[in-house]
Amino acid sequence: MSYLVLARKWRPKTFAEVVGQQHVLRALINGLDQNRLHHAFLFAGTRGVGKTTLARVFAKSLNCEQGVSSTPCGECQSCQEVDAGRFVDLIEVDAASRTKVDDTRELLDNVQYAPSRGRYKVYLIDEVHMLSTSSFNALLKTLEEPPPHVKFLFATTDPQKLPVTILSRCLQFNLRRLDLTQISGHLNHILQQEETEFEANALLALARAADGSMRDALSLLDQAISFGGGSVKNDHVHQMLGTIEQQQLHHIVTALLKQDGKSLLEQSQQLSAQGRDFTIVLNELLSLFQRIATVQVVPDLESTEEDNLEQVKSLAQQFSPETIQLLYQIALHGKRDLAYAADPKSGFEMTLLRMLSFQPKSIDKTVDISASTDNNTSAKAQSITDTPPVPQPQPQPQPQPQNVARQTSEKEKVEHISTASNTGDEISATNWTQIIATLKLAALARQLADNSAFIKSENQQVYLSLAPGLAHLATPKAQERLESALSKQLGYELSLIFEQGVGNVDNRQTLASERAEEASIKQQQATESIHNDPAVDAMKKVFDARVIESSIKSID
Ligand SMILES: [Zn+2]
Repeated sequence: MSYLVLARKWRPKTFAEVVGQQHVLRALINGLDQNRLHHAFLFAGTRGVGKTTLARVFAKSLNCEQGVSSTPCGECQSCQEVDAGRFVDLIEVDAASRTKVDDTRELLDNVQYAPSRGRYKVYLIDEVHMLSTSSFNALLKTLEEPPPHVKFLFATTDPQKLPVTILSRCLQFNLRRLDLTQISGHLNHILQQEETEFEANALLALARAADGSMRDALSLLDQAISFGGGSVKNDHVHQMLGTIEQQQLHHIVTALLKQDGKSLLEQSQQLSAQGRDFTIVLNELLSLFQRIATVQVVPDLESTEEDNLEQVKSLAQQFSPETIQLLYQIALHGKRDLAYAADPKSGFEMTLLRMLSFQPKSIDKTVDISASTDNNTSAKAQSITDTPPVPQPQPQPQPQPQNVARQTSEKEKVEHISTASNTGDEISATNWTQIIATLKLAALARQLADNSAFIKSENQQVYLSLAPGLAHLATPKAQERLESALSKQLGYELSLIFEQGVGNVDNRQTLASERAEEASIKQQQATESIHNDPAVDAMKKVFDARVIESSIKSID
């Protein structure tokens, strides 16, 4: 059984048999049945998606001896001649080999003559964009005043190269790549009719390799049948294509997920024993990572391109998007470097091990790096590098925030709204900012409290100072609110006295200055934790990554 046999035998003979391209079929069928046909059609699309087939069924529909319709009889002489590829009024031209103006002129000179066998002459000009400028001009003249008995079908893989004058005179259709289901379904149909034994997975592998082209799929199917000695087995097909089974890919990715280095090396060994091409394996891994990333963005994706959508969805939930991006990058670099490796297998294994070493032990949906420090504060840092995001090591337990709770005072007990503190001690420089931090204050009163430094406390009078530039904060209203909040918190009435310019506020702690200092320390810690992170360091080395300093921020 040869390629020609299958492709020829199974070339669709009616519109109903054509796979895919429903939008084009509908236009042609409606036009034929209503007898309102445009005189020039342009089919844009890749190879092997059915241009010649459409042209043939179209020519048959126009010339069937039973009359013009979308369902030619297939029995009459015209129909049979078209099917056999020897109908004189179907003129197929490959523009790629006929670009000279003389060729086109000769072709177009004949346009004016009536068809010799049927009602219409159908011209199929493939790769029409290859015509020369003067050929286009000759063609344009015909298109401007087309003889009534002529229909043009132009096909091109590159419609951008066509002059607008031509484009504007055609009814244009984009022929689509056929999807996996369409191709594998058609192969399935053919093999059942042929009574040839096959495994369904094998058809999906063939369909994937055909990359949208039915013609390529049929050609591959022929090869697979002869390769398998009359049957189409999954294993044979992968062997023939040098591809890897989806299940094997899934094993590799699962081993990455489980941090199972031993299993990874076993997979590599197995692939090598099967004689797989490691560039293709990396390509397939890239494709899988890309599909996982897509599902992470569009979780309810329904795709006919996915034969293992459920597995992909499950992986998408188990990996963080950042990790998938990183694994993709590593696979991409691994593919690039494969040629430089001692041999493809060791290059492939190094790529897998690199993926393993970069993969965080715990899968976390956020990027955070924690660092504990002496003074018991903690800093989380987040950073963006100019290559992939940072993988995340185990988050460390967060220390409790500073707590200023103390025993209640010997004075009258008061109900507190605040959860944090109840300081019965005299207010002092030591506990000033802690007390201020626990007060429930709004707007201006908060500003006033945060920027006030404690000077002294005498006879229920609290002396405070504000930096010279901030004196305006001590409005009567803000002062009153702060007084009342403090009195409530401490459990006794007190009054506030602001002493402008007394003491240098720079030397005294205010809550605002404390916080600024703390923020600066955290920023330093964040920067250090990014620079000391081994994963970041490794990315700098492997990918020439560079940390963008301004993107480091404490996220606590
Ligand atoms: Zn007929």
